[in-house]
Amino acid sequence: MSDFGQQRPPVLLLEKVAKEYEGQPPVRVLQDIDLTVNQGELIAVVGPSGSGKSTLLSLIGTLDRPTSGRIHLEGHDLTGLSDRQVAALRARRIGFVFQQFFLLSGLTTVENVATGLLYTGETAKRRQERAESALRDVGLAHRLGHRPDQLSGGEKQRVAIARALVGGPGLLLADEPTGALDAVSGKGVVDLLLELNAQGTTVVIITHDRDLAASLPRRIGLQDGRIAFDTSDTDAHDAYSVVQGGPA
Ligand code: ADP
Ligand code: MG
Repeated sequence: MSDFGQQRPPVLLLEKVAKEYEGQPPVRVLQDIDLTVNQGELIAVVGPSGSGKSTLLSLIGTLDRPTSGRIHLEGHDLTGLSDRQVAALRARRIGFVFQQFFLLSGLTTVENVATGLLYTGETAKRRQERAESALRDVGLAHRLGHRPDQLSGGEKQRVAIARALVGGPGLLLADEPTGALDAVSGKGVVDLLLELNAQGTTVVIITHDRDLAASLPRRIGLQDGRIAFDTSDTDAHDAYSVVQGGPA
């Protein structure tokens, strides 16, 4: 997998990234983060609660900026871009899935998914067609007119994934996407994410699910705001695979 896309810039390149929150004293949440993510990778981010996983995801998702260091997204150095330019890049290139689905309760599934296309300037009719197509892709062709309160948790997460994907992002970021789901729905959501990766989307999943993490080709472990291990880094001590008995 890592040898295709060598000609393209990495999807993500982080150099000495740190994040602090103001306070007395300031809270240093991430430090010394060096990370390269190539096109088509499938990565688990693991670590104890409070280790900085969600903060890292919000930085690589451009929802927030680092206190220091640089982040390049698909070859664009975000440091030099205005908030508006960053927002445009995010809208076109990044999809997000969160544990809490963040669906709008007054809208149908189609309307919820179509919100993922508001930046495109396409007509409402075209947005609706694309939303319906995305919902069919996630197996929800029979739920187009439903509202979120008429859906199971697993179905809601599928709607959220359709919304994340409808614009064709190259990078999908998921923060504990199965955290609110039962085992069966969770497996359905994971299978969907794996399928999207197989079709070429770069996928980063924060997870507490050790079996899921162990099954992914690369695992990045955070501890106290630093990268404690990264299984792509062959000579790094892979604490996680030792625990798991080796990578899949
Ligand atoms: P994780 O996702 O691994 O549980 P987070 O990235 O959410 O960890 O948080 C890492 C640390 O940063 C935690 O100690 C948290 O309390 C702190 N933190 C997160 N957001 C803020 C904020 N806006 N202001 C201050 N501290 C924060
Ligand atoms: Mg978190």
